[in-house]
Amino acid sequence: MKRTNQLRRGSCISLFKRNRLPSPFQYYKGQGLKFIGGGEWKSACCPFHDDKRPSLRVRLDTGGFRCMACGAYGGDVLAFHMQRHRLSFIEAAKQLGAWEAER
Ligand SMILES: [Zn+2]
Repeated sequence: MKRTNQLRRGSCISLFKRNRLPSPFQYYKGQGLKFIGGGEWKSACCPFHDDKRPSLRVRLDTGGFRCMACGAYGGDVLAFHMQRHRLSFIEAAKQLGAWEAER
C-alpha cells in the first residue's frame, strides 16, 4: 500500500500528542477535585467559580466537563487545564506532557 499521508498541515498540530494526555481520573485527582456520585457523570466542586456545592459534572472516560452554575465547559482535560490555569493550547499541552519536544 502506498503511503499518501504527506501531512502538510501546520507543524503545531503534529507536535500535539493527544494519546499522551493523562487519564482524566488521574488528572482531575491531581487538580484536587473530589468526585461524588456514580454513573457516567461525576460531580465535583467547580474550580471556576466559588462553588458551595458540587456543580461541576465531569466525565471520567473522556475528561469532558460542564458546570451547571457558572457555565464552564470543555471536552477534555486539555480544555480544563487551559481554562483553569489560563494557558494557551500549546502551553497546556506542554504542561500535560502531550507536546512533542521541539528541537
Ligand atoms: Zn462553575
